[in-house]
Amino acid sequence: TKLELAQYYEAVGDWMIDHIAGRPCSIVRTPDGIDGKQNFFQRHAMRGSSHLLSEVKVDGDKKPYLQIDRVEGLAAVAQMGATELHPWNCQPGNPERPGRLVFDLDPAPNVKFAAVLAGAKEIASRLKKLGLVPFCKTTGGKGLHVVVPLTDDRKSPDWDTAKTFAREICRRVAEDEPDLYVINMAKKERTGRIFLDYLRNDRTSTAVAPLSSRARPGATVSVPIEWTQVKKGLDPMKYTVRTAPALLKRSNPWKDYAKSARPLRAAIEKLVKS
Ligand code: ATP
Ligand code: MN
Repeated sequence: TKLELAQYYEAVGDWMIDHIAGRPCSIVRTPDGIDGKQNFFQRHAMRGSSHLLSEVKVDGDKKPYLQIDRVEGLAAVAQMGATELHPWNCQPGNPERPGRLVFDLDPAPNVKFAAVLAGAKEIASRLKKLGLVPFCKTTGGKGLHVVVPLTDDRKSPDWDTAKTFAREICRRVAEDEPDLYVINMAKKERTGRIFLDYLRNDRTSTAVAPLSSRARPGATVSVPIEWTQVKKGLDPMKYTVRTAPALLKRSNPWKDYAKSARPLRAAIEKLVKS
């Protein structure tokens, strides 16, 4: 129900808001519920929506985007039936600067989840060698996201550079294990392999927010996890709007996220030399 969704957002809101505030945020609205047929992806702010929500203008689009800057805004979007939140990956307050990288591992239907766990660890290990600090989250679906916080300074690269970097990481992983990974978008290329989607790392691209619920069976959640949990036994379906708050109380994943931002420029220089 909308009430349960609002209560869920209230339970995780203080934590979640840091990952969405200050960025354009698309929402998946499910006016007939997550089992309904009326799902739609909404990017722009709508006239007459709550004063608890913000609007943000970005270059190249006359219509303002929706932005959620406060926990109360999460309750407002729950009232609108927004069961998924998909922010830009920019720096808060600056749509032109990458604020985090997201590596989206998309397994083909017959790929075992163990292979996805291994893939996330492989990408993380390469990023760590470049001085970056990767984090892992479930998607609420079959894949995993590896998320890398980036510092913001005058030397911060632009989106094209960030996308090229993410592509190069994925390209090297796929080149070394071509039976396991593919970076080509074409569906027929993916059979039996994991598609390493680096395209989340673009100006207007989104990824589902940490802690966002999903409009999927069971109302699963995209849940931050520790790297020590990225092993056999991890069950992304266990985390739902109903269960996640209690499960998260027992651990404190991503507690160092904010202080783990690193400059992408330095990582690029290392990658070029390696
Ligand atoms: P899974 O583990 O099932 O892959 P996911 O969140 O990674 O979960 P994808 O299907 O890989 O799901 O989608 C990748 C991203 O594409 C989403 O996180 C979202 O931000 C974006 N996206 C999803 N639906 C739309 C849409 N209708 N329009 C534009 N972007 C979308
Ligand atoms: Mn995915």
